[in-house]
Amino acid sequence: MSSDGCTPSERKTSAVIWDLDGTVLDTETLVLEVVHHVVQSHGKVLSPEAATLALGMRPIEAWQAVASTLNITGQSPQDLYEQAEPLLQDRWHEAPLLPGVARLVAHLQQHGVPLALATSTPRATLNRKLHQRADMQAAFKVACCGDEVVNGKPAPDCFLQLAQRLGLPPTECLVIEDSPAGVAAATAAGMRVVAVPSMLSNGKPCDLYDKPVPDRCSGCISLLPSLLDFRPEQYGLPAFTDTIQGTVPLHPPLQIAGTVVKGFGRGSKELGIPTANVDAGDLRTTLAEAVTGIFAGWASVNGQVYKTACSIGWNPVFGNKDKTVEPWLLHTFDADFYGAEIRLSLVAYIRPEANFESLEALVARIHADADVTRQALESEAYVKHRDDPFLLPPPPQP
Ligand code: ADP
Ligand code: MG
Repeated sequence: MSSDGCTPSERKTSAVIWDLDGTVLDTETLVLEVVHHVVQSHGKVLSPEAATLALGMRPIEAWQAVASTLNITGQSPQDLYEQAEPLLQDRWHEAPLLPGVARLVAHLQQHGVPLALATSTPRATLNRKLHQRADMQAAFKVACCGDEVVNGKPAPDCFLQLAQRLGLPPTECLVIEDSPAGVAAATAAGMRVVAVPSMLSNGKPCDLYDKPVPDRCSGCISLLPSLLDFRPEQYGLPAFTDTIQGTVPLHPPLQIAGTVVKGFGRGSKELGIPTANVDAGDLRTTLAEAVTGIFAGWASVNGQVYKTACSIGWNPVFGNKDKTVEPWLLHTFDADFYGAEIRLSLVAYIRPEANFESLEALVARIHADADVTRQALESEAYVKHRDDPFLLPPPPQP
């Protein structure tokens, strides 16, 4: 990592260069689904360990590692790659945008900040990935693809080529990246980097980074939990003007439905704060995006709608793909409601997940989140979502 001692804001930002996979697009979920499918066709089950290997390397090496971990015999890594590739090509356009991307891209465009893409993806695949995204195609007219440079990341070639095409010195370019190779490439090009480590890699930030801390800066690299934590003014760019009482509006709201299940029973007992755990099985289909953090929104249980402060995070116990969604409903109930259906429409992002020095500090922060939630949800932009049809109970089965 670069350590020339600058803080990001000391330099002017004339353009922002983005990585694609894991930064703009959540392609990891899709890759895992396809790997799962191929592995299953050979009678195997994708373990969390194999899933981690599948994401961490280039395709052929990844298949080699997956095949040996799962003991898939009679198939070369090349065979497996060739089975997966057409499935991926058919589905690339399904990859969702990562949290905060649409908002930041639109904001920078509005302010006339030139944007570019530096991706290892070949040009033909890039076209497929952005096929149904006219907004992203328009935003990223300038792109340097994996098949358009001699040396891929971690070599600086793609970033240097883009700086030249933009007519800017590398020092005026800010890069947004998720992978260690990408961060290395951008710093080697002399650019400042915002690293947003991909949270899906192994259920926690990549080991090659320090733990992401909001606004933390090391040399010319800042590390963010997600782009919802990006503050443009810290990089000499115009500040966002859409925040509401310090919260970031989510467009569209994050909507989750599921059954309330038993958690570890820690919420009420240890913290005095009950959180209704949503069944992980329900989440796998409704929460494909790499979203984590503390959110404010509306929750419905048994036909009633309540304000909620909700945490979304990784469940360390169940490995790779399981998340916990734990809403604290800001209401005093007479009884538990395990087994009930809960529907959440989260309209605002409050803050990233964080570690606290003590239980007291954690409890104080959760109460502060609840205060923010109570107040912010009264604002016009948020209160109207209280009537979202999504929160109504589903019609009775015929
Ligand atoms: P668990 O670990 O099983 O989720 P908690 O101590 O976190 O246990 O308590 C959560 C349970 O308490 C919920 O599943 C729900 O049935 C009940 N509950 C009561 N009041 C609330 C509330 N205000 N918000 C969320 N859950 C509540
Ligand atoms: Mg709970």
